[in-house]
Amino acid sequence: MTLSILSVASEAVPLIKTGGLADVAGALPAAVAPHGIAMTTLIPGYPAVLAKAGKAKAIHNWDSLLGEPARLLSTKLDGQLLLILDAPGFFAREGSPYQDGTGKDWADNARRFAAFGRAAADMAGGAVKGLRFDLLHAHDWQAAMALAYLRFAPPAGGKAVPGVMTIHNMAFQGWYPASLFPQLQLPRTAWSIDGVESYGGVGFLKAGMESAHVITTVSPSYAAEIRQAEFGMGLEGLVASRGDRVIGILNGIDAALWNPETDPDLPEPFSVKTLARRRANKRALEAEFGLEPGDGPLFTVISRLTWQKGMDVLLEVLDHLVGLGGRLVLLGSGDAEMEAGFLDAAARHPGKIGVRIGYDEALSHRMQGGGDAILIPSRFEPCGLTQLYGLAYGCVPVVARTGGLADTVIDANIAALSAGVATGVQANGVHYHALASAISRTIALYRNRSAWQRLQKNGMKADFSWGASGLAYANLYASLVKEAV
Ligand code: ADP
Repeated sequence: MTLSILSVASEAVPLIKTGGLADVAGALPAAVAPHGIAMTTLIPGYPAVLAKAGKAKAIHNWDSLLGEPARLLSTKLDGQLLLILDAPGFFAREGSPYQDGTGKDWADNARRFAAFGRAAADMAGGAVKGLRFDLLHAHDWQAAMALAYLRFAPPAGGKAVPGVMTIHNMAFQGWYPASLFPQLQLPRTAWSIDGVESYGGVGFLKAGMESAHVITTVSPSYAAEIRQAEFGMGLEGLVASRGDRVIGILNGIDAALWNPETDPDLPEPFSVKTLARRRANKRALEAEFGLEPGDGPLFTVISRLTWQKGMDVLLEVLDHLVGLGGRLVLLGSGDAEMEAGFLDAAARHPGKIGVRIGYDEALSHRMQGGGDAILIPSRFEPCGLTQLYGLAYGCVPVVARTGGLADTVIDANIAALSAGVATGVQANGVHYHALASAISRTIALYRNRSAWQRLQKNGMKADFSWGASGLAYANLYASLVKEAV
């Protein structure tokens, strides 16, 4: 029997992307399809989405979705059904999905994503003619209210379907003051400790977690970490109380988009058998960033420039990295002080450090295909995708030992090296000495050509495709649907 799943996400590749969530939401339908799952994705109708979606058919109207008129558009993307919530009052604006051009959160984000959730609940609850779903899968706080609406205010005569809440990052919870509650059009019963109330306000992610039948997060280590205060961000008690209903399923990578043999963005495609061709990509990358070509390792960073990603500590160790003969190319944007810090480091080390402030998908591919190692010193990392792309592209990951980074990179310690299984380097903490020593270790490994190539090849041969995780999601859906009947 084919199960019909509604996947609700605020971004999805190839339509709109600000981070890893989009990669996952975009890849999931194809990942579960081989296992008898028909997944339909719902995303908001931002201008970029409407422009890319092409010919879409209107299949439903809301006169007022939390005060704004809205339509549901239906189209196909890569053979899968894609639904777009076209609500111009909420989504027809330039800027990022969550922020205006100056980087400030849109003032009405709470209403925008509550409306998104309301629409998803109507769809999963059977209120939209022609659509029928067995389960609703919500991603992150922007989609979480779908589960709360389905539980506390299902459409009249609607069918109760089970819900899955996936946390891609616990640090973003969608918390708003209590004064929002009357605008949500939820019954008073929803205002409770096991409902939408969270620390005296309304917590979107919290509401989704309370209303979900199962909570998932994107790596087994992070699923364990969020039971502790350091990572749970105030919701650790709730996570712990859900016991074995909180599980970790590792993200995969979309091999159609991230394969060094077929990547159209690489000057010189290569495989594990033709690793020597990588050199041309390295030379091109050095030239692109205005670096002096050299024999030393070329480190890369492709990241949001934030405290979570440990970029403040990385700034502190750059002199050490350059002092040992390393060079760095960085692509990212975020915290204004960090952006300025990296630009300053590039000015201090001309020809050794190159910095691009911004977002550039094609350049991120060229960096994975030409860099020697990718630095990911995150303080916490639910899964992380850049280390997986690094592994697939022979760009050795140098990571902090946390969350999905710890689950996917095998540290080149003595035991792993002698067994020939290492794939990268893990830093033991996110502070100056931990990172400086990981960089020293990496550079020493790099100077041993055969050991380094072994690291690269091990990573390239490792399987981080969606195979196993697609099956894990499919099994989870099937068990919840069975439990519900
Ligand atoms: P997060 O979602 O926390 O930002 P992930 O590692 O899970 O971190 O996913 C980040 C995704 O965004 C990856 O696909 C990465 O390649 C991409 N990315 C991050 N910053 C940039 C950038 N400045 N330009 C292009 N791609 C970027």
